[in-house]
Amino acid sequence: MTKVDIDPHSGFCGGVIRAISTAEKYLAEGARLYSLGAIVHNEAELSRLEACGLGRVGPDTLDTLDKGDSVLIRAHGEPPSTYVRLDELGLNTVDCTCPVVLRLQASVQKASERAQVLIFGKKGHPEVLGLVGRTGGRALVVENTANLRDMLNGGLISQSGPVELFSQTTMSPEAYSEIIVQLRSFAGERLTVHESICAQVASRHRELKEFAAAHDVVVFVAGRDSSNGKVLYQWCRSVNPRTYFISSPQELDPQWFDSAAAAGVCGATSTPKWLLDKVAEEIKICNNSAL
Ligand code: SF4
Repeated sequence: MTKVDIDPHSGFCGGVIRAISTAEKYLAEGARLYSLGAIVHNEAELSRLEACGLGRVGPDTLDTLDKGDSVLIRAHGEPPSTYVRLDELGLNTVDCTCPVVLRLQASVQKASERAQVLIFGKKGHPEVLGLVGRTGGRALVVENTANLRDMLNGGLISQSGPVELFSQTTMSPEAYSEIIVQLRSFAGERLTVHESICAQVASRHRELKEFAAAHDVVVFVAGRDSSNGKVLYQWCRSVNPRTYFISSPQELDPQWFDSAAAAGVCGATSTPKWLLDKVAEEIKICNNSAL
């Protein structure tokens, strides 16, 4: 019989909670509301919100909306050009950019006026696109240490001027430390490092480490497109090799729990609590275990 625990710190971060509750409020008032891109990287939560009436639109299909329709900017934020485009099309902007991301955007913009800006993040990620947009497209995006080495060898990093380094809010603090060490050895005192990983993400790394180590088996629940989900899953796996990634309860395999006394269920900043509950219930049913 396997005991099942849900990580009390997993579930939506403050930015996602704010965006979803704003969407729910607008929909309850009968607004025609469209999210610019997926409001959260979780398929199950997206289906729930779509059933409540939330539409989805992409940058290329904005002109198919009617004047006066509302477009929600998600917690990741958007580059300045998006706001201009929404205005030009006569659309109502519902800006749900997370306040933490808004501060980061302002900070990146200021830094780009005095230094070369590097952003540690995932190329093409919406938050990163928003940040690069604040620098007029000049900021360089670094994905990992190999990528940084290529940039250094290719002479892309300033040899003599100031360099400022930021991180996308959901990156791994450990991976950011490696980037800092490598860049510091090249730029020395010319480098200014900004601790821009979200405090909620950084503390989740610490908490998840303890949670993963305290269970025989860990089931990590997140959407396949969740950047934070991929990072946290790998983090759990590095602590506990019996960690499995799923997006829905249907993906559970009862054999994972063979001779496991305790199973832990956890997730990303984009994983809804109700989905963690459902997964824990399903483990309990398929293993005839106690929650
Ligand atoms: S991870 Fe942090 S910064 Fe990013 S949306 Fe959530 S609360 Fe905001």
